[in-house]
Amino acid sequence: MRICRFDQDRLGVVKGDQVHDVTPVLQGLPPLAWPLAPGDHFFNHLEALRGPMERLAGQVAGKPIESVKLLSPVANPGKIVAAPVNYALHLDESRADTAINFGTQVKTIADYGVFLKATSSVIGASQSVIADWPDRRIDHEVELALVIGRGGFRIPESEALSHVAGYMIGLDMTIRGTEDRSFRKSLDTFTVLGPWLVTADELGDPSQLDLEITVNGEPRQKSNTALLIWNVQKLIAYASQAYTLYPGDVIMTGTPEGVAPVVPGDTMHARIERIGQMKVKVGP
Ligand code: MN
Repeated sequence: MRICRFDQDRLGVVKGDQVHDVTPVLQGLPPLAWPLAPGDHFFNHLEALRGPMERLAGQVAGKPIESVKLLSPVANPGKIVAAPVNYALHLDESRADTAINFGTQVKTIADYGVFLKATSSVIGASQSVIADWPDRRIDHEVELALVIGRGGFRIPESEALSHVAGYMIGLDMTIRGTEDRSFRKSLDTFTVLGPWLVTADELGDPSQLDLEITVNGEPRQKSNTALLIWNVQKLIAYASQAYTLYPGDVIMTGTPEGVAPVVPGDTMHARIERIGQMKVKVGP
């Protein structure tokens, strides 16, 4: 199933180029009370909602996906875990380019481990990335992103994929400089998720997916998830060694070579095999 959030927080099931509004199924969610339980409310209950979503999507007319405003499929991720330098050729370019490394020694993912991005940085495909630091280089990083569906602590690699709700295209926007990654990758609008979520059962094996991004039609990054240094299973196992993963938590798996700047007015066009594609504008 392909699940999207669109317009004024409508819930959609995407079939072909049509979105079917299944928002009424959310009435089946239990009421919320403070303090909220960990996890995103929708993903905490996705398994129970899937049947009703499928049934309703078969009953209501669709409308063209092009006509709606796509928001992040995850509304309230508890955390966004991200992988640094997780493709060998991106490690090489980071070491070679002082405009990327700013004079710092670039180590490996085994040295860094994973890092966290602020959840307030999340937007969807139809919202614009704001790049309004004119004296600083702001880069695109296209990445396979996943959402946790079943929580866990110290999840073994052999079971990791069974904890995934689904997959999305992720853009880990980055301002280059000497600050910590958590600062440079957490600016408002710097985490683009979309265009929709493809559930894990529909996507299947995430280990050999072509991914690419062009800017204004110019090829920038093009690779395949087979070249990840730490694959999806390893990232889930590693992250959950430290912290419990909850439904709705997002993991961004890292970017391949070809990172490059964007400026206001640009249009990024990202694509991942078996997920789809999204056009994201850079503003203001
Ligand atoms: Mn990244």
